[in-house]
Amino acid sequence: MKVLVTGGAGFIGSAVIRHIIKNTQDEVLNIDKLTYAGNLESLKEIDQNLRYTFKQIDICDHEALTLIFDEFKPDVVMHLAAESHVDRSIDGPAAFIQTNIVGTYSLLEVAKTYWLTLDENQKIKFRFHHVSTDEVYGDLDGTTDLFTESTSYAPSSPYSASKASSDHLVRAWHRTYGLPVIITNCSNNYGPYHFPEKLIPLVILNALDGKSLPIYGEGNQIRDWLFVEDHARALYKVVTEGIVGETYNIGGHNEKQNIEVVKTICNILDELKPQSKQQSYETLITFVKDRPGHDLRYAIDARKIAQDLGWKPEETFETGIRKTVEWYLNNLEWCRRVQDGSYQRERLGVSA
Ligand code: NAD
Repeated sequence: MKVLVTGGAGFIGSAVIRHIIKNTQDEVLNIDKLTYAGNLESLKEIDQNLRYTFKQIDICDHEALTLIFDEFKPDVVMHLAAESHVDRSIDGPAAFIQTNIVGTYSLLEVAKTYWLTLDENQKIKFRFHHVSTDEVYGDLDGTTDLFTESTSYAPSSPYSASKASSDHLVRAWHRTYGLPVIITNCSNNYGPYHFPEKLIPLVILNALDGKSLPIYGEGNQIRDWLFVEDHARALYKVVTEGIVGETYNIGGHNEKQNIEVVKTICNILDELKPQSKQQSYETLITFVKDRPGHDLRYAIDARKIAQDLGWKPEETFETGIRKTVEWYLNNLEWCRRVQDGSYQRERLGVSA
């Protein structure tokens, strides 16, 4: 199969490409703008493979996308390119509107034009797989409910609103033009190669530097945590076995409060890399003003993908977080290089 991956230099996209190159015979073309969040070093394990190619392209560039589709002739598109950090969307929503909404629109248009040129057999097999988030469903605060594939959309942040918009566009291109699309909405990912602005890598790296570990509000926000390599497996399963027009929720069955997550990381670091003064890393925890509009709880009902496609996560939070901390301890050079000077783990998203 020829797989066109957008955003393949990012956290999840790079895991998807590593998974495909290592476990299948498929050919992958990675198109990525290489924003601050895109790092080709995340692909160094596979970038010499002859089945892998990279092109630096902005998904808003209609002409460049048209050329790519004409040359590569993908069998499937896996669309992960996005602005992805909620705090940044609060400070500067414009890039989120541009990439997540306008970029998805241009990708859909180019994909549709290309798809219409295919013969009937290829047309049926073609897939446009859009990767989205559980944040489109809004806040589950005060309930024990879980997000299902039919939960109504109620996004809270500029990020989740832009992802919700793109999901609607993708569905419309299926219903109106017949483009064979599939959508997945997943919970919070964690694991290797995660840019250090997100909670888990930020906490690991700040702790190792003896810096404070900022907890928003009281740290009682609940997220479901999904190990990125489990997610990559799920995405490949969906694009190869999923039903056209369907949505699949992907979750890790790991609901945790943020404060629990941070304390778990501190405990693992106390064991693997104790501080010289023998104090627990927990002493570095600092409570800071909460994020504006912060959702309290997200939780995924992942029964559909389990029942229909036989996918289940392999990692528990305990095994996945240990692997993640160990990976960061062994890859500090990657962390140093991806923080190119424009970002020093400072607090973002307080301007509202
Ligand atoms: P990321 O920020 O790590 O990577 C995004 C990638 O997209 C980067 O490589 C970046 O260079 C690229 N990109 C950004 N704008 C682009 C543009 N205009 N044209 C081409 N490339 C562009 O994000 P991620 O965490 O890997 O997330 C991937 C997808 O999964 C996103 O669509 C995100 O909304 C979704 N998602 C992520 C999570 C999570 O926990 N990380 C959870 C749910 C859904």
